[in-house]
Amino acid sequence: MIGPVINTVCVPVTPPADQPATRPVVGVLALQGDVREHVAAIEAAGARAITVRRSAELEAVDGLVIPGGESTTMSRLLVVFDLLEPLRERLRAGMPAYGSCAGMILLASEILDTRPDAHCLSGIDITVRRNAFGRQVDSFEEDLDFADVPGGPMRAVFIRAPWVERVGEGVEVLATVPEGPAAGRVVAVRQGNVVATSFHPEVTGDRRVHELFVDMVREAIAARG
Ligand code: GLN
Repeated sequence: MIGPVINTVCVPVTPPADQPATRPVVGVLALQGDVREHVAAIEAAGARAITVRRSAELEAVDGLVIPGGESTTMSRLLVVFDLLEPLRERLRAGMPAYGSCAGMILLASEILDTRPDAHCLSGIDITVRRNAFGRQVDSFEEDLDFADVPGGPMRAVFIRAPWVERVGEGVEVLATVPEGPAAGRVVAVRQGNVVATSFHPEVTGDRRVHELFVDMVREAIAARG
């Protein structure tokens, strides 16, 4: 005998917290550098952050942040941890990436004033000069106009920072130094799914660069269907 018909009650379904379309998984390369600050900034920008030290972890992310630190040390550790080629491969395949300071250096296609054995990832067609601002102004702060983000000037913290000496075709300049001896120097760029800054937005509490990056990751997820 068929039992009584039970009405189905439709309760609103909350998507799982880690559903990629709403909360992408963003890796933070955790070989060296200011990993914790980027993890906090990425979480605050609405994505789920995981640290990446192995290729299996790299495979699991929708996008990757390469933090500030020391680019030559990170370059060496990428080899030690067998991550250099897997990372190049994911970048070639279009994985979104954001590099801050040493991360910008690693994402470049050419690095000036580095060690001869330092590797670059060629994620973005730029030439960067390491420690470009010189010893006198190792570290400084500046308010910048940053294209593509609303909300007025952005406080930028530079710590032994590189600048961009050449931008390739298709690379958008997002910010330059407004005044002083380095006026006009390019310090933020974007090409496709890859964005890079000479400075450290993860230390200021201004989440706009990380929000821009998380939006880029969401768009990349939507585009791959
Ligand atoms: N000068 C460092 C390098 O060459 C970068 C500094 C930083 O990330 N704060 O890698």
